[in-house]
Amino acid sequence: MKKNDWILGGAVAGAAVLLLLFQFLRGAGKAETVAVTVDGELYGTYALSEDQTVDINGTNRLVIRHGSAWMEWADCPDQICVNHSAVSREGESIICLPNKVVAAVRGSEETGVDAAVQ
Ligand SMILES: [Zn+2]
Repeated sequence: MKKNDWILGGAVAGAAVLLLLFQFLRGAGKAETVAVTVDGELYGTYALSEDQTVDINGTNRLVIRHGSAWMEWADCPDQICVNHSAVSREGESIICLPNKVVAAVRGSEETGVDAAVQ
C-alpha cells in the first residue's frame, strides 16, 4: 500500500514536471501561429507548434505539421492554394482567391490583438 502510494505520487509529480517542461519549451521555441481568414473575417488562429488539420468551412483543408502549414485540399477550380508550397515564417501566406480563404503566418507577439486586425 505504502509503496503504491509512492509510485502514484511519483507518477503525478513526473507528469507535472513534464507538462511544465513542455509549456516552457513551447514558450521558448518559435511560437508562430497561422491566422485563417475567410472573406476578410478571422476564422481561427492555430499554433504552428501543434500538428493539426483544420477544416475551413468544408471548402479548404489546412494541414499543420512539424512547424509548417499547407493547403492539403480545396474545392476551388484553380488549385493554386493546394499547389502553394508550405509556409512557416512570419509574413508568409497561402491565399485561395476563389474561396476567399487566407492562411497567414504571424509572429507570436501579434496573437491576442486579433480583434484589431483589418
Ligand atoms: Zn484554392
